Amino acid sequence: MSENAASGTIAFLGVGHMGGPMAVNLVKAGHQVLAYDPVPAALEAARGQGVPTVESAEEAVAGASVVLTMLPSGKHVLDAYRGVDGAPGLLSVAGPDTLFLDCSTINVDEAREAAAIALEAGHRSVDAPVSGGVVGAEAGTLTFMVGALPEDFETVKPILELMGRRIVHCGDHGAGQAAKVCNNMILGVSMIAVSEAFVLGEKLGLTHQALFDVASNASGQCWALTTNCPVPGPVPGSPANRDYQPGFAGALMAKDLRLAVNALESTGVDGQMGHLASKIYDAFAAEGGAARDFSGIITEIRDRSAT
Ligand code: NAD
Repeated sequence: MSENAASGTIAFLGVGHMGGPMAVNLVKAGHQVLAYDPVPAALEAARGQGVPTVESAEEAVAGASVVLTMLPSGKHVLDAYRGVDGAPGLLSVAGPDTLFLDCSTINVDEAREAAAIALEAGHRSVDAPVSGGVVGAEAGTLTFMVGALPEDFETVKPILELMGRRIVHCGDHGAGQAAKVCNNMILGVSMIAVSEAFVLGEKLGLTHQALFDVASNASGQCWALTTNCPVPGPVPGSPANRDYQPGFAGALMAKDLRLAVNALESTGVDGQMGHLASKIYDAFAAEGGAARDFSGIITEIRDRSAT
């Protein structure tokens, strides 16, 4: 990898909902980007927004100083790194000392495995999952949670700053994914708790506004209540005011909680709330909530509470 990796070509693999606008922001900032995605419509959309594209991952990666992946899952990342179905692995295609920067949300163990095989192949590795959703990707205001060696963090920071507003170095390889999974487990559990409290308040004759006015200024205060409030009214910008259009989709919360459960199990932590939240959001996603904001869980709780 050249010393000025931050100004070399970035191979951008996976230009879907998140990767597309992230790649656009890199190009707008004057970066050299070569994007690839196996879905022609995704590639076409990126090209339409000014992102240079190529017809294979190998073409994008050969000569790149950074390989940025924004893929659906850890299996996609590890398969791409190692190669699958006769396709050469990107680790073998890349020039020596390339920096592999994975921004996908994947299991902590998979992130550590990805780093181990990248290092073994003579490359560098950084995990940098994001929060902020498609809106943040478009606006360049994502938060990046970064797991990296200190010198690699310094290399990727200026790149990530072109796509995000907060760049947090969480520790060594896998620490970015660890921070993301812990945060989202808090979020899933707290959204269920806030939703149950509003439905209980309804049954007890409390108005939404009264409960909000008390809890938002008391010990029940949290992001699920004060920013993403699951009832319409108290927080005008929350998805509840637009029939639970996401926002943060139920399918993504279900995915992140499954990652949390995997982490709880692999570490032996007695995370009963995390397990239960995962079960609740899996059911929500399977029963019509996949494309709704995750705060729509309140409608399920209310329905199940009808007497
Ligand atoms: P997406 O499905 O829209 O995009 C993923 C893209 O990767 C697809 O276009 C797919 O064709 C492409 N792809 C698959 N295999 C590939 C390969 N080998 N090489 C190149 N491209 C390949 O998903 P998304 O919503 O953009 O999410 C991407 C990641 O970001 C996921 O891990 C997700 O959990 C995470 N994330 C998403 C959001 C969100 O709001 N959408 C928020 C935070 C984090």
